[in-house]
Amino acid sequence: MKLQCQVELINRSHLNLNLRNSHKYVQATLALGKEPKSENDFFIIYFSTTNKRGTKYRLKCNLKQVFTRCINEGKSTISFEDPQHDLYIRSEAIQLKCFMRLLKSCISGNANALQLSALSSLSVTAIDNAPTKLVIEDRSQFPKNGLPRTLKSLYINGIKMCNFRREVLLLKHLTVLDLSNNEIEKLPAEFGRMPNLNELYLANNEIGKNGTVDWKWLLGPEITKTLKLLDLSSNKLKSIPNAIWKLQKLFTLKLDDNQLEKLPHTISRIKTLRYLKISKNKIETLPGGLLNCPLEYFDLSGNQFHCNTRQTTPPDLNTWSFNAQKLVHLASEVFLKNKVYYAANIIPYTLVEFLDNVNVCVCGKLAIDDKLYLNKLYNMDDYKVVIFDDNNTNKIVGFDCYYCSVACMRRKYSFRGK
Ligand SMILES: [Zn+2]
Repeated sequence: MKLQCQVELINRSHLNLNLRNSHKYVQATLALGKEPKSENDFFIIYFSTTNKRGTKYRLKCNLKQVFTRCINEGKSTISFEDPQHDLYIRSEAIQLKCFMRLLKSCISGNANALQLSALSSLSVTAIDNAPTKLVIEDRSQFPKNGLPRTLKSLYINGIKMCNFRREVLLLKHLTVLDLSNNEIEKLPAEFGRMPNLNELYLANNEIGKNGTVDWKWLLGPEITKTLKLLDLSSNKLKSIPNAIWKLQKLFTLKLDDNQLEKLPHTISRIKTLRYLKISKNKIETLPGGLLNCPLEYFDLSGNQFHCNTRQTTPPDLNTWSFNAQKLVHLASEVFLKNKVYYAANIIPYTLVEFLDNVNVCVCGKLAIDDKLYLNKLYNMDDYKVVIFDDNNTNKIVGFDCYYCSVACMRRKYSFRGK
């Protein structure tokens, strides 16, 4: 077994000579194995960035002490008699515990049943020390000792994987995760805690297969601040949750080839969104807020915009009823405008829900009162970034428009007719 860790090596003989140690942790690998021709001779080899050839420590009658009191914090110390070295180890707690359990089995002689590699077959190179990329296209390619914690990009493609592998959650350095062409139906809520993930590819999976989708991971405090690309194309999605706007760094969103009938209005609240692909769905109308999104690419080919294109007539804008706003609307406006932090443990959950689901006006501002609403037709020929692959010459698309104020509604609505 190999343990990726950080090690500080203290030479006790130097201490006796009053020589100073460097007191620095270095990136290291500890390999536990046995001598090729012996059943009971176990060794630990210590490799580090400064010690690429490795130092070999015999275990039999050579272990002075093993300290595991702080193992839950991912810290431990192994002390050897010859050479007089203390290895102060810092590592991921679960991995360290596995390593220590194995070490204990080796010392107590219960290791016969263990499948330890012979030392001759252990090799650790500088690259092996810290692999950052792993591509798995066949189940046999999964590393026997689990996924290396140093991975920055992981590609698991086309292996008919049904369940999300939870060990991925331990990869704290991961920036790119590609799980395309599998049979995954959902991601666990903890996925939202991935601290560095920029790109997530889930194309051609089974998300939404059974109707309901668990989107709790979208609310994760970490992923909302890091995710820039989300590829959900060719799944079985019937809807996208309102919470999608929580991904406040999202640049690219691919939703093509699903069964979507609508996009959430909140999608226009993602200020960073530039690339949106919704082709091959069943969408009939679009959220009005998108008209003001600074998209650079917007593919809406292969939808059903021409089925029920109807334009609603504007209400009588002179009635006073439109001008009397509810207190909750006024308060919400101030709240959102000033970006005040809110959560269900501070304000009632119904208010959190209300604030989370606020629509976006055609002008780009928030449209808190959903009474100011119109279905309006727009000719997409006027929008250069819009892609229409189908030969249909009719590029009229219906938009569900919410307005931030009566004045805005008056301005945006053409009274000269359709
Ligand atoms: Zn407006």
